[in-house]
Amino acid sequence: MSFEDIPVPIGPVYEGERIRAKQMYVELGGPKMEKHFELCKVVSKKEITDGQVTIHGIDLKDMEEGSTHPIGIFVEVAGPELEVDLEAVFERRVHEFCNFVNGIMHLNQRYTNWLRISKTAVEKGFNSFQLLGAVLIRLYKAELPIIEQAQVTFFTNEKEIEKPYAMAMEIYDKRDERARTIHDEDVDMFYGCVLCQSFAPTHACCITPDRTSLCGSINWFDARAAAKVDPKGPLFEIPPGECLNELAGEYTGVNEMIKKRSLGEIDRIYLFSGMEFPHTSCGCFEAIDFYIPEVNGHGIVDRNYGDVAINGLPFSAMANQTGGGKQMPGFNGISIQYIISPKYQQYDGKSQGLNEGIETVVWMNKGVKDRIGEFLPKDLLSKIATEEEVTDINALKQWLQDVNHPIVETWAEALAEEEEEEEWEAEGAMVPMGTVGMTIPGVGGSGGFSIILKNCKVHAEAIIIKKIGPKGKKKK
Ligand code: SF4
Ligand code: ZN
Repeated sequence: MSFEDIPVPIGPVYEGERIRAKQMYVELGGPKMEKHFELCKVVSKKEITDGQVTIHGIDLKDMEEGSTHPIGIFVEVAGPELEVDLEAVFERRVHEFCNFVNGIMHLNQRYTNWLRISKTAVEKGFNSFQLLGAVLIRLYKAELPIIEQAQVTFFTNEKEIEKPYAMAMEIYDKRDERARTIHDEDVDMFYGCVLCQSFAPTHACCITPDRTSLCGSINWFDARAAAKVDPKGPLFEIPPGECLNELAGEYTGVNEMIKKRSLGEIDRIYLFSGMEFPHTSCGCFEAIDFYIPEVNGHGIVDRNYGDVAINGLPFSAMANQTGGGKQMPGFNGISIQYIISPKYQQYDGKSQGLNEGIETVVWMNKGVKDRIGEFLPKDLLSKIATEEEVTDINALKQWLQDVNHPIVETWAEALAEEEEEEEWEAEGAMVPMGTVGMTIPGVGGSGGFSIILKNCKVHAEAIIIKKIGPKGKKKK
């Protein structure tokens, strides 16, 4: 495979490239655009012209510098061994392959895809979607040899994107609908994905029927199909092994997998908890489940929400805290599908006496609520606040009491514990430690450290952390 005719270099080495606003020539899709998508479909050889790139709308060279446009990337592939189940995983590779291009930054997936093309790339002559299409087709065929033929179509204007966008949304819905038909107990194999390790080296997804990957684009069926055709590829089997804790979703096989894939950084995962040993998050999660200590509940905010969430933080600020492959109790990157799984954060809910994990959710932005409302318990749905009902924590507290949200039941216990601890404190007693893990933000990764504070509260004006070298130790 050669890219000699492409005016910018291509290769995995460019995957982590960031293109800031002032370096960008144009922006495609992303939060400012209403309709954008990327989709892959398996078709018969008769239906496509191998190598063909079509552009509906204006081409890159005709776009004004600094402008934003809709983007639809439609990849059609053919080959005798291809099956529909492989479409989602092929589609996810759009992200990787676009990022191979020096001068393109691609983020997210499905209908949240977001690209920036750098001024430098355009100056060098990378000024047409014909070139990007050619790169994608070559990479698809080279990296996934079962793809024998491919064609790519781009949509760059609001009118032309309408129809293919509607088709894409329908296909995503169908995939999600199918994923809802099975549960972890129905299968004897889980799957893993390390496609995001170029951005988050300690992150690996564990994909089970009840836990669709956090990017939302790879469900258990998709992962199974990919691992079958390319067992040495980025998607692989995870034999679950022994179930150590059913409620938490802790399995020996998943623990072994994450230990190996995170190079020893993380050795334990609770699939169904956002608070203890949570699943790691890379950066392309569809939504964030965040803990709101003031009400002992959780909020959910998705990537499309432009305002600040109930905790006063915008999605972007929380995403920094959540992502990067860290295990971050209280900030969990999740897919929208996972929210409607009956196992959703069940450990966090049931271990507090609630009926289900979803009962820990007290706030979500309206966009998320509208999307998943029909799948949530009716009586609970009306008790989950959105930005339309409350805008600060005090109002949320009052709202939860007024609607009698199940979380309120947990407050008495939390209050009693607090009072008891205050009593101990007043007595100057030493309090024994129990079970909540906490990591310090920003110090994960190799060379960092984690502090486990178990079941205790810390009141301090400052924490001073000093490195004590061998000399320091001797002096003591
Ligand atoms: Fe794979 Fe997970 Fe990244 Fe999705 S988020 S591409 S499943 S590693
Ligand atoms: Zn990712």
